[in-house]
Amino acid sequence: MTERLDLNAARPEPERAELLGWMFGQLHTEYGERPLVPRREPMHELISTILSQRTTHQDEEAAYHELRELGDWDAIIQAPTEQIAHAIRRSNYPESKAPRIQATLRAIREQRGGYDLDFLADLPVKDALKWLTDLPGVGVKTASLVLLFNYARPVFPVDTHVHRVTTRVGVIPRMGEQAAHRALLKLLPPDPPLLYELHINLLRHGQKVCTWARPKCPACVLRERCDAFALYGNHVPSFSEKPAKP
Ligand code: SF4
Repeated sequence: MTERLDLNAARPEPERAELLGWMFGQLHTEYGERPLVPRREPMHELISTILSQRTTHQDEEAAYHELRELGDWDAIIQAPTEQIAHAIRRSNYPESKAPRIQATLRAIREQRGGYDLDFLADLPVKDALKWLTDLPGVGVKTASLVLLFNYARPVFPVDTHVHRVTTRVGVIPRMGEQAAHRALLKLLPPDPPLLYELHINLLRHGQKVCTWARPKCPACVLRERCDAFALYGNHVPSFSEKPAKP
């Protein structure tokens, strides 16, 4: 089945903000509270998030572990790039990630004289995001994860699961993940614990229920207000960022 072009027609911003607030409540009831506690130190979060792109959590962890066996960050900068690519081979696209990781580490050392990122806690959010996204291997998702998870800054990371669920329900019109960061953040209060819980619960919902193919709509707590379910019932098609051509 192909998606109809009228899925997710634009609705007014206050309505979308209210819908997102309702989703937060539904997911809170379903999955419970998620306290904002850093899961790993900032440099670990930063490099692991680069490794996580198109990679399972298990493979990301294995790649990070093997990378750190090469030594400290200085040693990783100095190692031959092929050796880095070999160490992170459990992550997808190791040949392109290896030079990006080395370039990122080198840029951090040049600008900060080391690898302490705690200055990000005191920068205005806009400047902290810019500093991180100016690093060679860091996009807005990675930067947002570090700022929210490690420094409790009011940003909202959008990964593939957050993007898919919010688009299907109809909180945002169809757009790329990058643009969705800005669109969703505008609808949310600057409340880091809430932003963290919503991110984690949407991710979990996208992994378990609102999967890319064959979402489990009969078991979904968002069903009663979901645009995709209203259009397709129990046959919501596989997700794509752009609707299929008629
Ligand atoms: S009703 Fe279906 S498409 Fe809508 S959010 Fe739930 S699982 Fe996803």
